[in-house]
Amino acid sequence: MQPYELIKSKRDGGRLEPADIRAFIQAYTAGTVADYQMAAMCMAVFFRGLDSRELGAWARAMLESGEVLDLSDTPAVKVDKHSTGGVGDKVSLSLAPLAAACGVPVPMISGRGLGHTGGTLDKLESIPGFNVNLSTSEYRRLVREVGCCLIGQTAQVAPADKKLYALRDVTATVDCIPLIASSIMSKKLAEGIDALVLDVKVGSGAFMKRDEDARTLARTMIGLGAEMGRKVVALLTDMDQPLGRKVGNALEVMEAVDMLRGEAPDDYTEITYALTAEMLVLGKKAATVDEAREKLRKSVADGSALRKLKEIVLSQGGDPRSIDDYSLLPQARSTVDVVAPRGGYVTGIDTEGVGLAGVALGAGRQRVDSKIDPAVGFTLLKKTGEAVVKGEPVVRVHYNDEAPVEGVKARLLAAYHFGDAAPAPRPLVRERVE
Ligand code: URA
Repeated sequence: MQPYELIKSKRDGGRLEPADIRAFIQAYTAGTVADYQMAAMCMAVFFRGLDSRELGAWARAMLESGEVLDLSDTPAVKVDKHSTGGVGDKVSLSLAPLAAACGVPVPMISGRGLGHTGGTLDKLESIPGFNVNLSTSEYRRLVREVGCCLIGQTAQVAPADKKLYALRDVTATVDCIPLIASSIMSKKLAEGIDALVLDVKVGSGAFMKRDEDARTLARTMIGLGAEMGRKVVALLTDMDQPLGRKVGNALEVMEAVDMLRGEAPDDYTEITYALTAEMLVLGKKAATVDEAREKLRKSVADGSALRKLKEIVLSQGGDPRSIDDYSLLPQARSTVDVVAPRGGYVTGIDTEGVGLAGVALGAGRQRVDSKIDPAVGFTLLKKTGEAVVKGEPVVRVHYNDEAPVEGVKARLLAAYHFGDAAPAPRPLVRERVE
C-alpha cells in the first residue's frame, strides 16, 4: 500500500480497493500514515466522494481499528442516539437519563466539539469530576448496573475515528457525507448497541444545510447500519437556529437539567422527547411513540429521570450536587448583552455564525490542542419569530477573557437577522427516515 498513490488516485477520481482502504486506515491508526497524508486523503474524499463499496470498506476499517464491545451481559435491547452535530444541541444530556429511567440501557460513546458544533464530552466535563475516560470494563459494568454510561472514544474503541475526527475538525473536512457517516457509524457500531436513533440536523447550524443532503446522510448511515445488522431510525431535525436558549458547555448542562425538571424551552424539550420516544420503541419499552412519550412525561413528572442523571453523574465520578446547585458548575465572571439594532422581529439566525462566535469566545476549539473554557457561552434572549424593540438585549455573552468579546459581539450581531414580520414557523422534526 503506497499512501501517495492512493491519495493521488482518489484526488483524480479513482475508486479505491477495499483492501487498500483497510490498509490505509490501519496504517493511519498505527501512525505510519501521517496526519498530513490522511488530511490530503480526506480532502480528496471531500471532493470526489466514496461509492458504496468504498464507503462500506472505509466504515468497516474504522470500526475494526479497535475493539467491538460486547454488552451481552446486559440482556435488554441497548439503544443509543447520535446527533450529526449542531449548536446548543444538549439533547444527549437529557435523553440518556430519560431513556435509562424508562428501562432502556444506553451505552453512549460521544465526541468533542467539532467545527462550529458543540460536543457532549465537553459538556459533560464541565460537571466537576465527571470522567469520560473510563475503561471498557467499567463502561460495561455501568451500562449493566446504572443503565447508562457516557464515554469518549478510548484507545480500544474506534481509535481511527478518534484521530480522524480531531484531524478533520482543523482541516475543513468535516462536512462531507461519507466521512460523517463512517465516523458516526464506526463508533456507534463499536459500542455494543442493538439499535440506534440518529438525529440528523439540517439547517444553517448543521453540517447539512439542505434537506436533500440530510436525507442522503440519514440513508447512508441507515444503510451502513443494515449492512452490519443493526436497526437504525433517523429523524431530520431543525438546526436553523440554536436548540434551546443556552450555547456553551456548562450553560448547556444547566438547560439539560432544567429539561429534566420540565422547565426547559419547548423546542429543546420537543426534540428530546421525539428522539427518546423512538429509543423506547426500538428498546421495546413502548409499543408506540405516543405510549413512549407518556412514559417520558411521567419520568420527568415523578423525578425519576432527574434521579437517573444524578446516578449517572455519581457513577462517573462527578459531583451530583452540581445538578441541584448550578453555582457548583463553572461560572463566567462577566456578561455583556448584544442589543437589537432595530425594532421588529428576529427573522432568522445564522446558526453556524453563532457556533463560530462560541468557538471564538473559547467554548470550542480553534486547534486540536486548544483548551476550552467550560463556563463561557451565550444565552439567546430572543429567537426566530420573536418581537424585539430597538436597543433590547437579544443575546447575553458569558465570558472570562475580555480579548475576544468585541469580535464575538460583532459576529453575533451579524448572525441575527431582523425584519418587519415574523417568519412562518417551521416544523422541528422535518422528516422520519427508517
Ligand atoms: N459527528 C461525528 O461523530 N462525526 C462526524 O464526522 C460529524 C459529526
